[in-house]
Amino acid sequence: MYRIRLFAVRHARGFERIYKGVERVMVALDPLFSRIGYNRIERPVALVERGVKALLFDCRMCGQCVLSSTGMSCPMNCPKQLRNGPCGGVREGGFCEVKPQMKCVWVLAWDGAGRMQDGLPRIREVLPPVEHCLAGSSSWLRVSREKAQRLRESRDAARAALARAFPEARRQEPASAPLSVEPARATRQETER
Ligand code: SF4
Repeated sequence: MYRIRLFAVRHARGFERIYKGVERVMVALDPLFSRIGYNRIERPVALVERGVKALLFDCRMCGQCVLSSTGMSCPMNCPKQLRNGPCGGVREGGFCEVKPQMKCVWVLAWDGAGRMQDGLPRIREVLPPVEHCLAGSSSWLRVSREKAQRLRESRDAARAALARAFPEARRQEPASAPLSVEPARATRQETER
């Protein structure tokens, strides 16, 4: 397992691409997941996530996956569970103070982050403390659900702005949009507000 963890860090760029691809697919599946019910699929998705990530990253299913921000090195493997950089005890050669047989997860994290496209800016961001109430839940599902929600909100805002802009444009210059018709959905949303 430890060797696979090192492999994942060495190939952090490839895993970053895979992660982004998985996220895109899951965001695209949001309408289907919503229809089935996120609560219903939580368990099976969490099971798959646990299996895949335990194998590749020695994941502990903290429920707030930060692998994309830590060079694909899971900080839950740090004996002190530090989330924002190493303690002061890193040994010579980058080995852990508490478990001298393993590399400090933060030394690995910087190595992996340097190989990734977005790794270095992301590893500099301060991460929030672990929320233990989320342990065991699927990060993939939560992150993709939140992203889909944000996309929906920005699409709705754009539609509403469009619905406001058409009548305004006609008032200002009737010849500018004489045949344009507001998208029905946008008009509906605007009148519902
Ligand atoms: S040396 Fe690194 S892995 Fe070990 S306890 Fe300190 S921060 Fe955690």
